[in-house]
Amino acid sequence: MEQFEVGIIGGGLAGLTAALDLSQRGYEVVLWEKQGFPHHKVCGEFLSTEIAPYLKQLGAQPPSAIAIEHLRLSAPSGAIAEAKLDMPSWGISRYYLDHFLAQKAQAAGALLRTKVSVEKVAPQKSGFQVHTTDGLYHCQVLLGAMGKRSALERALRSPETIPPQKTPFLGIKRHYRASIPLDTVQLHNFPGGYAGISAVEGGRVNFCYLIDQKQLQRYGGVAGVEARLLPQNPHLAQFLKQAEPLMERPLTISNFTFAQRYPVSQGIPFLGDTAGLIHPFCGNGMAMAIRAAGLASELLDIHWQADKLNSFAGAYQARWKRHFKRRLHFGRQVSPLLGRSGLSEWGMRLIKTSPALLRYGLRQAHGSPFSSLRHGA
Ligand SMILES: Cc1cc2nc3c(=O)[nH]c(=O)nc-3n(C[C@H](O)[C@H](O)[C@H](O)COP(=O)(O)OP(=O)(O)OC[C@H]3O[C@@H](n4cnc5c(N)ncnc54)[C@H](O)[C@@H]3O)c2cc1C
Repeated sequence: MEQFEVGIIGGGLAGLTAALDLSQRGYEVVLWEKQGFPHHKVCGEFLSTEIAPYLKQLGAQPPSAIAIEHLRLSAPSGAIAEAKLDMPSWGISRYYLDHFLAQKAQAAGALLRTKVSVEKVAPQKSGFQVHTTDGLYHCQVLLGAMGKRSALERALRSPETIPPQKTPFLGIKRHYRASIPLDTVQLHNFPGGYAGISAVEGGRVNFCYLIDQKQLQRYGGVAGVEARLLPQNPHLAQFLKQAEPLMERPLTISNFTFAQRYPVSQGIPFLGDTAGLIHPFCGNGMAMAIRAAGLASELLDIHWQADKLNSFAGAYQARWKRHFKRRLHFGRQVSPLLGRSGLSEWGMRLIKTSPALLRYGLRQAHGSPFSSLRHGA
C-alpha cells in the first residue's frame, strides 16, 4: 500500500490548485483524476480575477488569458443591458487552464495519478484508506474535489446530507472561431435558458449554454435547438450565422444540482463544486474552486504544524461558510429568476431602468481579491 501525507480526489481546478499549493508547502501529495490531461470541460470559461493574487503567489498566473471588462446581457427579444465589470475577468479554456495547473502541480512535486478513479474510501483511526482502480493507498489527510456529480460524493455523505433534486437543465459547450468583442462577456437569454459567449486563448470563442431539457426534446436535440430555438434571440442568431465550429461535436453535461450541500463529510473537507455549485449565471464557480483550495491548504498547514489535525475539517467548514455561504445563497435566488423561460422581458426592463441592480448582483456573486497565508510571508 502506498503512503502519502495528503490525498486529493479529483483533478479539476480545486484539486489541482490544492495539489500545487500543498506540494509547494512541502507536503507529500497524491492526486487521483479519472481522466487524462488535457481535456475539454463543459464550462463558460469566464474566470473572476479575485483569485489572481493567489495564483501569482503560487507562480501559476496563466500567461495566455484574455482580459474581459464588460458584460452585455440580453433578454430573449434581444433587448440589451450593459455594465462595466467592477473586477476584470479572464477568458481561459479549461483545456488549457487545467492542464497548466496539472503541470505546475507536478513540477512542484505532487504525484498525479491520471486515468485513475477513486472507488471507495475507508476512514481509519488515523487517516484514510483509499481504494482506487490503480490499487490501495493510505493518506493522513484526504480532500474531496470530485466535482458536482460524482457517485463517490454520494457514497461519502450521510443520506440526510445528499443534495436532493437535480436541475432540469443541461449544459452544452463548443469552441468556435468567430469575430466578437474580446473584452466583453455576452449572456443572451432565449426561451428555456441562456447562452454565454466569450473569448478564450488561441483565437477561440467559447459558446456555452444552459437549457431546460424539455426544450431539447421539443426541438429534437442540439441541432434543432441551435437551428430554431437559439436564433429567436437576434444576438444569438447573428453569432451562430458567422461562427465556425472548432469542435466536431458539442460537449454536454446533465444531472447536476444547485441545491445546498455541506463542505465536510466523514472528516473529509470538500472543495469546489463538491461543497456547493453556484449557478453558472454568476460566473464564479471556477474562482470559488481555486479559492477553496487556497483556504484548505492554508488551514491544513496551520493545523498540521500545530499538531492539531483533528480540528482541521471543522475549521475548514467554518471558513468555507464565511467565504461562500452568502454567494451560494445568492446563486440559488438567481436561479428561479431566470426561470424555465429565461430572463424575462420584465426582468430586463428592471435592470435597464436601474443599472445599479446589475452591479449589485455582480458584487453579491463575487468575492474580494484573495491570497493565502504562508509561512514567512
Ligand atoms: C454549464 C456550466 C457553465 C459554467 N460556466 C462557468 C463560468 O463561466 N465561470 C465559472 O467561474 N464557473 C462556471 N461554471 C462552474 C465551473 O465549471 C465549476 O464551478 C468548476 O469546474 C469547479 O471545479 P472543481 O474542481 O470543483 O470540479 P471539476 O472541474 O468538475 O473537477 C472535478 C474532477 O474530479 C474528477 N473526478 C470525479 N470523480 C472522481 C473519482 N471518483 N476519482 C477520480 N477523479 C474523479 C473529474 O473527472 C473532474 O476532473 C459552469 C458550470 C456549468 C455547469
